[in-house]
Amino acid sequence: MSAPAIGGVQAPRGGGQTIRLPRGASLSDFADRIGANPAALVQIMLHLGEMVTATQSVNEETLQLLGAELDYVVQVVSPEEEDRELLESFKIEFGEDEGDEADLAPRPPVVTVMGHVDHGKTKLLDAIRNTNVVAREAGGITQHIGAYQVHAQHEGQDRKVTFIDTPGHEAFTAMRARGAQATDIAVLVVAADDGVKPQTIEALNHAQAADVPIVVAVNKVDKEGADPTKVRAQLTEYGLVAEEFGGSTLFVDISAKQGTGIDNLLEAILLTADAELDLRANPDMDAQGLAIEAHLDKGRGPVATVLVQRGTLRVGESIVCGEAFGRVRAMLDDNMQPVEVADPSRPVRVLGLTAVPRAGDNFLVVSDDRMARQIAQERAARQRIAEMAKAGRRRTLEELFSDYEKGKIDELKLIIKGDVSGSVEALEDALLKIDVGEEVNLRVLHRAVGAITEYDVNLAIADDNAVIIGFNVRPEVRARDLAEREGVDIRYYSVIYQAIEEIEAALKGMLKPEFEEIQTGTAEVREVFKVPKIGNIAGTLVRSGVITRNSKARIIREGVVIADNLTVSSLRRFKDDATEVREGFECGIGVGYNDIKIDDVIETFEMREKPRD
Ligand code: GDP
Repeated sequence: MSAPAIGGVQAPRGGGQTIRLPRGASLSDFADRIGANPAALVQIMLHLGEMVTATQSVNEETLQLLGAELDYVVQVVSPEEEDRELLESFKIEFGEDEGDEADLAPRPPVVTVMGHVDHGKTKLLDAIRNTNVVAREAGGITQHIGAYQVHAQHEGQDRKVTFIDTPGHEAFTAMRARGAQATDIAVLVVAADDGVKPQTIEALNHAQAADVPIVVAVNKVDKEGADPTKVRAQLTEYGLVAEEFGGSTLFVDISAKQGTGIDNLLEAILLTADAELDLRANPDMDAQGLAIEAHLDKGRGPVATVLVQRGTLRVGESIVCGEAFGRVRAMLDDNMQPVEVADPSRPVRVLGLTAVPRAGDNFLVVSDDRMARQIAQERAARQRIAEMAKAGRRRTLEELFSDYEKGKIDELKLIIKGDVSGSVEALEDALLKIDVGEEVNLRVLHRAVGAITEYDVNLAIADDNAVIIGFNVRPEVRARDLAEREGVDIRYYSVIYQAIEEIEAALKGMLKPEFEEIQTGTAEVREVFKVPKIGNIAGTLVRSGVITRNSKARIIREGVVIADNLTVSSLRRFKDDATEVREGFECGIGVGYNDIKIDDVIETFEMREKPRD
C-alpha cells in the first residue's frame, strides 16, 4: 500500500476498497478500520479545513470527505440497517412474516387521515369512532390512545379498519423518516367549501411518495357554498382522478359534522384495500410492530400504544420497544377495556415497559427478558452515539472565524419537551424542515417526553442560549426558578403549527412583538370537594402571584398540561366569594373542570401586549 503525504501527514491509501461505518462514527473508528493512526486522520482533516478531534462523532459528509481523500469507498450504515444487523445477531428477523403463503391471513387496513388544516381531520376521526356501533355498544370510556379500530360491513361481511388518530402528515412523515411505515391507506380530507390548499398537496405528495393509495373524503358538504365537483376537478391536476371521471381514485362526499357519508367512506377504504393491496400477515408468530404514541403515566409508568403488524401479542410476553423493554403486564384497547391478545393491525396500549419509547420505534416479542434487556441496552448505546453525531455538526475554520468576527454564531439551538412522544417527534421533524437559507442553522440538542427539568435548563445554559420548547408541558418548580435566574428562554405551545410559525419567524429575524402570556398565579391543589350541581372545587394553597376570579386558567399534573382554556369561575375564601387571593393563602377554586386531583397545579395567566424592543 502506498502512503502519500497529505499535507505532510502519512496515512495508508485504500485503493478504492469499501469500508462500512455506522452513522456517527469518529475518526478513531475510521482509523481502526484502515489500520491508521487516529492522530494522522485528525491532521488530514485539519488540512482539509475542518477541526475535529479523534473521538468526536462526525457526520456522514466528513466520513465521505476523508474516505475520498484516502481513496476508500465509505458506506455509512443507516440506523435501520444497523438495527437489522443487531437483531440478526440475536437471530431475529424484523419486518418479515415467518413461513410461506399458507401461513398468511388477511389483516385490516391501517389508515391515516391527512389534509389541510381546518378541513376536518379531527372531526372526521371523531365521527368515524362515534358512529361505530361496536364502540357505542361497549359503552366504555373511549380515550385517545393514538389509534383505534372500528368495524364496518362490507359486501355482507364484518370487516375491521384501523385508524391512526394523530391527524396530519407531520406524524406520518416523522414515522416514515425513521423508516417506519404504519399506513396502508391515506384518507385525504378536502373541505368542499375551501377546495385544494397547499397542505392538501403536501399530504398528497407524502402519500404518493410512500406509495400509499389515497381515498379522498370531500368534507363539509353540508355547508353553503360547498362544491364537491370542483374538488374532484382540482385534484385531477395532481393525478387523482375520480372514478366518475374515468379514473381509479374513490371520492366520497361526507359531512364529518353531521356524521353523513361515514359508512360510504369506510366502504371506499375497504374497496381500495381489496383492489390495490394484498394485506396479509402471519398471525402465528412472535408479534412485531410499531409504537404509535407513548407517555409516562403517574400510576402506571410508561404506557405505549403499539400497532401489531404481524404475529399476535399476548399479555406476559417479553418485548423490546425501541430502547425500552419489559414484560407486557396488561393491554388495553381504546375503550380502556383489558385485552389478552392482539392480532395483526390491532392497536393496543401496553403497560409494563421500563421506559417511554418514541413514536415510530419498532417493537418485537423476544424469547426472554434477558434478551429484551440486551437489545434495548445496545440500542440505547447506539442512539447516544448517533445523537452526538447530530449535535456535533462540523464547522469549518472559515465558518468559525467569520462567526467570531460577526461576534455571534447564527445558530438556533432547541431543546424540545412534549407530553407524548408522537408530538415531540412530529415537532422536531417539522422544525428541522424549516427552510431558512444559509445564514442560520437550527439544531435540536435534546428531545424527550415529560416536564421540563433542571437537566433541560442546565443543558440550555451549557450550550449558551439554547431555547426550550414546551409542547403541552411545563417546567418543574426548580427548573422554572433556574431558567428565570439564568435568563433561559422557555416557550410553550399546544399547537404544532403555531410552534413552527413562530420559530420560523424567529429564524428569519422577523418575530413581531405580539401578545405574550404572563403567568399571574399558581395554586396547588390540596383537597377536592364535590359540590352538588356545580362539580368539583379544588381546595388550594396559592403558591405564587395572585389568583383572580374570571382569569384564564389551566391545570397541570406532573408538569403536563391536562386541561387548558379554563376560567376561574368561582373563587372563595372560606365561605365567602373573593375577587382575588394572594400567595400564601388558601382558597377554593372552581374552573368548570371535574377531573381535578390532589397535587395538581392550577395556573392562571393573562395575555399582555409584548413591548417592542
Ligand atoms: P383539522 O384541523 O383538519 O383537524 O380540522 P377540525 O376537525 O378541527 O375541523 C375544523 C373546523 O371545521 C371545526 O370548526 C369543525 O367543527 C368544522 N368542521 C369539520 N367538519 C365539518 C363538516 O362536515 N361540516 C361543517 N359545517 N363543519 C365542519
